[in-house]
Amino acid sequence: MSLDVAAIRRDFPIFAAQPPPFHYLDSAATAQICRPAAEALLRFETEARANVKRGVYRLADAATRAFEEARARVARLLGGVDPREVVFTSGTTLGLNLAAHTLAPRLGPGRRVLVSVLEHHSNLVPWQLVCARTGAELVPIPATGDGRLDQAALEARLDRRTAVVAVTHASNVTGAVTDVARVAAATRAVGAVLVVDGAQRIPHGPVDVRALGCDLYAFSGHKMFGATGAGVLWGRGELLAELPPFLGGGEMIARVTFAASRFADPPHRFEAGTPPIGPVLALGAAAAWMTALDWEAVQAHERALTRRLLDGLAALPEVRVLGPADPEARIGVVAFTLEPHHPHDVCQLLDVRGVCTRGGHHCAQPLMAHFGVEASVRASLALYNDETDVDALLEGLAFVRSQLG
Ligand code: PMP
Repeated sequence: MSLDVAAIRRDFPIFAAQPPPFHYLDSAATAQICRPAAEALLRFETEARANVKRGVYRLADAATRAFEEARARVARLLGGVDPREVVFTSGTTLGLNLAAHTLAPRLGPGRRVLVSVLEHHSNLVPWQLVCARTGAELVPIPATGDGRLDQAALEARLDRRTAVVAVTHASNVTGAVTDVARVAAATRAVGAVLVVDGAQRIPHGPVDVRALGCDLYAFSGHKMFGATGAGVLWGRGELLAELPPFLGGGEMIARVTFAASRFADPPHRFEAGTPPIGPVLALGAAAAWMTALDWEAVQAHERALTRRLLDGLAALPEVRVLGPADPEARIGVVAFTLEPHHPHDVCQLLDVRGVCTRGGHHCAQPLMAHFGVEASVRASLALYNDETDVDALLEGLAFVRSQLG
């Protein structure tokens, strides 16, 4: 069955709200919110607001139950994991910082953290900070020429000194998808912990984290059709049980005396303070909305669009695409340069045509250095895009060339 994109678009209020032409090709930065998520957020804030985990009156109890139902919905999206393995955060960045801080006791001189050069800064800088603090060594895993993780180089660097391996599931620059199962097998063989940044992969279909074999998996609600402000760190139950708290405060304790505190079990141990309740409920609604989709049809649709985009770009002599040419090896996140023009000029002129793209280093400066460029234009696709969006971008690039020479 082919995907009914018109029906999908009706689930996104933005498309009725924005005057045409409107071609949203920046979903890698933030995806649009789906109606069930927007409604969950508004309903909670206006009709059902109470703090969670504390109150005994009915309104508070309902809020707590809705919050835990959101956790169960996310658990289903992740392959039916135990909901106690789902930690709510404010987003990928917090999830990865939580991982780095709580794994710090396993680091020290003689220990190593392997981080790929594909990473968004949020899966690199926390490891730099924790290595500087503990004396562990930060070791880069290089990329292949077309911007994929170099699996052989990773395996050559893995040994018993390795405490942590941190990789992205899909690059926010090249769209390249990492073979996480293979990385996980190699990581497990040396007894290290595998941390995966799933921010870009999760909007492109449910992820069975147990089957992948990773230990920690972080993502953001706003990139998977939820609201801004909430995200998830999934953790293997056995590992979460061993990790110390990250932030201290209310809700993460079992018992507090002035002398000492005993901490709550996961996931609450890692959820200090009032969580972003509305955004978490929106995330849960988005997860349920995603779970109900026909992902074979969605992925076929996205692959066809990615191919159309890559073929269109390949036909433009001044364009250099960063990343794999094969649409099977990547998601629809496509960064490119249009020589000799600055990406910001290109994006501004595309905006005249109603085409929303992003220009810059995409918070992945080591990867940009790998390609020998300072910045690039990035077009990123989601399930609500169609051929008209891709064609508007390609025609827009012809317009840019006519304007800039
Ligand atoms: N990792 C990747 C691969 C990303 O693309 C992003 C967002 N651009 C992040 C992490 C950070 O996500 P957030 O800003 O939602 O914390």
